[in-house]
Amino acid sequence: MDKITFACTLCGKTLNAPLNKAGKIEQCPNCNESLRIPIPANIQHCPHCGANQIKKASLVYEQGTSAGNLTGISLDDQGSLDVFGAGIKTKSLLATRLAPPSRPTITALVVSATFGIVFFIADIVLLAELSKTPHHQKGSTLFMIVMFGLVLAAMGIYFYIRAKRYPKEMAEYEYRFKTWDRLWVCLQCGKTWTSQ
Ligand SMILES: [Zn+2]
Ligand SMILES: [Zn+2]
Repeated sequence: MDKITFACTLCGKTLNAPLNKAGKIEQCPNCNESLRIPIPANIQHCPHCGANQIKKASLVYEQGTSAGNLTGISLDDQGSLDVFGAGIKTKSLLATRLAPPSRPTITALVVSATFGIVFFIADIVLLAELSKTPHHQKGSTLFMIVMFGLVLAAMGIYFYIRAKRYPKEMAEYEYRFKTWDRLWVCLQCGKTWTSQ
């Protein structure tokens, strides 16, 4: 392959460009739109400096991330030996820069749902207690029912908003991940680009 074939983002016309124009901005001969010529996945040279030391960012990230064990020995005041260990993950500076996008978590949903359930149960218990409460204390029990109810409602609203936004966050994450998966890095100049 010695040509890049792509479509104009404005008029849709199929265009060709030589390989050495990958990543450069040119005008569409049909509609004059300024276009960045896509960089094919199989180019051999960095489109910025021309060096041939190019690598997929995902590969650099994996190779630059290493898991290991940290082991330590300590002596306590009774003189007995204690060996402790911890799993560690280290990343090279380049791997840190080329890290994949972080995946949205459901922690906020779980936390708000848990709090919601706790306050719901508390409200039910208080409602059951209300009939047994002596008349002169009914006011404070009712006050607590309202307060617990308000927290429950707030948790419910928060849960609803987060749950509604979650599919969109996931779709955005998947899009960013796919873009990251097409990211290349030049080991000579350090510049990155996204291939087709
Ligand atoms: Zn065009
Ligand atoms: Zn380069």
